[in-house]
Amino acid sequence: MEKASLISVIVPCYNEEEVLPLFYAEITKISAQMTDKHPNLRFEYLFIDDGSKDHTLRDLRALAVKDERVRFISFSRNFGKEAGIYAGLQNAKGDYCVVMDADLQHPPSFLPVMYEAVLSGEYDCATTRRVSRKGESKVRSWFARLFYRIMNKISQTEIVDGAQDFRFMTRQMVDAVLSMSEYNRFSKGIFSWVGFRVKYLEYENVERAAGTTAWSFWGLFRYSIEGIIGFSTAPLSIAVVLGLISCLIAVFIVIFTIVKTLAFGESVDGFPTLMCSIFFLGGLQLFCTGILGIYLSKTYLEVKHRPIYLVRETEKNMPAPPEAAAEQASEQA
Ligand code: UDP
Ligand code: MG
Repeated sequence: MEKASLISVIVPCYNEEEVLPLFYAEITKISAQMTDKHPNLRFEYLFIDDGSKDHTLRDLRALAVKDERVRFISFSRNFGKEAGIYAGLQNAKGDYCVVMDADLQHPPSFLPVMYEAVLSGEYDCATTRRVSRKGESKVRSWFARLFYRIMNKISQTEIVDGAQDFRFMTRQMVDAVLSMSEYNRFSKGIFSWVGFRVKYLEYENVERAAGTTAWSFWGLFRYSIEGIIGFSTAPLSIAVVLGLISCLIAVFIVIFTIVKTLAFGESVDGFPTLMCSIFFLGGLQLFCTGILGIYLSKTYLEVKHRPIYLVRETEKNMPAPPEAAAEQASEQA
């Protein structure tokens, strides 16, 4: 007989009031199918409200009242999806944890297959890999591909193209992820860094069920820089390489000038060349100092040891729903 186990479904939500009911309907349907097949399986749904500005929190409160499997953590402001994932993993009680988006882009129908893969004992983690980027703009896909190419060239941590944060993990792997308590979190890198045996399930990109993505192009760009800085120190070597190259060029110029002066005598022209070199070298130096600066700023944020997220409300300290409050008031009167 299978031992009793709890699956924690962790869902970071930022302004997801439109998809939340759809997601809840879908996940409860799939859970019911899974518990039918494995009667010893239990579920908890841990929603992380990442400082939503719409009615996400109100809807989560209602769900928590209606369904005891629903738990939620509401942040004091928007801390970003990475913080949401961390908070979810930290507070999940499950023997298995699965992280998924609220917008149904991570189809809950994958859960049974993921569970079976991990249950077989052959894998510690099951995740999905997009094999197409259907529904995404060409420019965005191109930049995404470029990012993976660069990242995998310069970093020891391999990040599979199309890999996602949709992960079904054993408690052991969750604890490993939690042991990486860094402030600058890049989950794709962290999941890959911890290792373990990962099963990749391939699937076609699904579009958002409703609502809009919170990611702008600029946001994604910053996120990719975060990934590169967090998991590679190669950019720091750029200064060394460029410095060496410009030294070599200088040696050639010295030799060329000596030979030219000896052969043709000295002349004092060359002002444009001088200006070009000053601007070129000045630019290079600023560029390299900039790279140093980025690493320094990340280190600065890291050594401050600021909390990764702050909680304002959970299902344990939520205000009573309006009807219950009204009843209480009438009882007291
Ligand atoms: N999300 C979040 N905090 C944020 C931005 C997004 O918790 O600051 C959540 C969002 O609610 C969703 C998931 O992260 O469940 C993925 O976000 P989105 O669908 O906007 O990103 P995309 O699918 O385009 O990568
Ligand atoms: Mg999405």
